[in-house]
Amino acid sequence: MDDSYRLNNVWGGVPRVKYYAPDGTCAEHIPHFRTRKDNVKYDVLLAKGYTIEPPVNPKPHCKGCGQWHDTQEEVEACIARQEAFMTKYEKIAAKRYRKPTDADKKIDELEKKINKLTQLLETKISKE
Ligand SMILES: [Zn+2]
Repeated sequence: MDDSYRLNNVWGGVPRVKYYAPDGTCAEHIPHFRTRKDNVKYDVLLAKGYTIEPPVNPKPHCKGCGQWHDTQEEVEACIARQEAFMTKYEKIAAKRYRKPTDADKKIDELEKKINKLTQLLETKISKE
């Protein structure tokens, strides 16, 4: 597949191509190609849904998953789903990792002291 016709004639630097995101925003990207298992070379951005021409029916971009959904309702549902997921797992994480108490701090300090004493003893023994 020859894509050179799409490259703009700017000398120097990596050639960039204008792509339209499914929401209709236009930006220049460095074309990136991958080869499928059946040896067909494809444009990664085009495979993701980007187009060379402005999209006829722009799709709303979703901040939740970074993709594009067909409708604004789907975007809101996706974000709500992600928020529900996050609060659920934050609760689980909060339960699993309880806040350190004063006793924990004291144990940490004791541990440090024991480690230091052990080190001192070891150096003393090795010198003898
Ligand atoms: Zn989404």
